[in-house]
Amino acid sequence: MSKPLNGAVIGCGFFAQNQLHAWAALPGAQIVALCDRDPVRLAETASRFGIVRTYADAAEMFVAERLDFVDIATTVASHRPLVEMAAQAGVHVICQKPFAANMTDARAMVAAVEAAGKTLMVHENFRWQSAVRRVIEIVRAGTLGEVFFGRVSFRSGFDVFSGQPYLAEGKRFIIEDLGIHTLDIARALFGDVIRTAATTRRINPSINGEDVATMLLTHRSGATSVVDCSYATKRIPETFPESLIEIDGTLGSLRLDAGYQLVMQGCVEDLSPPLLAWASRPWHNIQESVLIIQRHFLECIAAGAAPETSGRDNLQTLALVEAAYLSAAEARTVDLATL
Ligand code: NAD
Repeated sequence: MSKPLNGAVIGCGFFAQNQLHAWAALPGAQIVALCDRDPVRLAETASRFGIVRTYADAAEMFVAERLDFVDIATTVASHRPLVEMAAQAGVHVICQKPFAANMTDARAMVAAVEAAGKTLMVHENFRWQSAVRRVIEIVRAGTLGEVFFGRVSFRSGFDVFSGQPYLAEGKRFIIEDLGIHTLDIARALFGDVIRTAATTRRINPSINGEDVATMLLTHRSGATSVVDCSYATKRIPETFPESLIEIDGTLGSLRLDAGYQLVMQGCVEDLSPPLLAWASRPWHNIQESVLIIQRHFLECIAAGAAPETSGRDNLQTLALVEAAYLSAAEARTVDLATL
């Protein structure tokens, strides 16, 4: 077996803990260094995962360490400088979503890593959830025939603000944070999008951004899909953080219903994800997808292949986010080619 790749994680916050657990479970990688500006989070995370070499400054870390890859788990404002620093250092890169604050930054980041000849993957993990993955495989195998309609729906009243207080502060909220994932699932299922029309609402008065969004997508394949998301939906049972899916094709239809129940051609299949040793409900489907996407990254590096959720691929998902905001702001349909 080849030697494990040496990696570093930048950002030791709320979500990075999942990434570190997943790295510890993957024999193809070892995390040799950690970086965070916050000394308390850095020390706590280093001690939790037994990582000795720690840095407050990413630039210092790139000089001092011999790394194969870096996993950037910070929030969006720092993504461009950190990705460009990693490209300069000549290492492979994973960057959390939202990949960039705007399309100009995103294109520059993709160009920087491509120029360095390294792999860039966005940690766009929702399409890697095992239940969602199964649906993607069914569609790609042609089992439903030609798909003409789809719906990807995420509706919840779960309090995401206690773990991620920054989500209540930004001018943008649900499309940029959560819709980005469900839009990416729609792309994985039905292909790229040519135009979109969206509406947004803010129901929760104590946050700054929108917490409800409904997007109508016209796909190049001819399919139409509806991607709807809400953090203002009080439903029983609460389905956080499940993405529910409906698909109609010329040969049949399927639904991924609440509780990971796949309903297709009169049969029901339980696609409940495993509860990994370090995971906890209700996040366990997301936590499993972190392990799966990080394994995919290592496999792609070994094979010299581009990840399915590469930086270049993610430009299309980010463009959809931008298009949805523009459509909602100007009450018009937005052609993706204009962005
Ligand atoms: P967080 O605020 O809890 O953690 C971010 C950490 O990064 C902080 O500890 C901060 O000190 C550190 N940091 C910021 N800039 C830095 C820099 N330049 N150098 C070193 N350290 C720096 O945020 P979080 O909730 O963990 O979210 C991080 C990212 O993960 C966000 O982009 C968020 O959207 C994403 N996220 C993804 C998922 C998913 O399912 N893919 C889920 C939750 C969060």
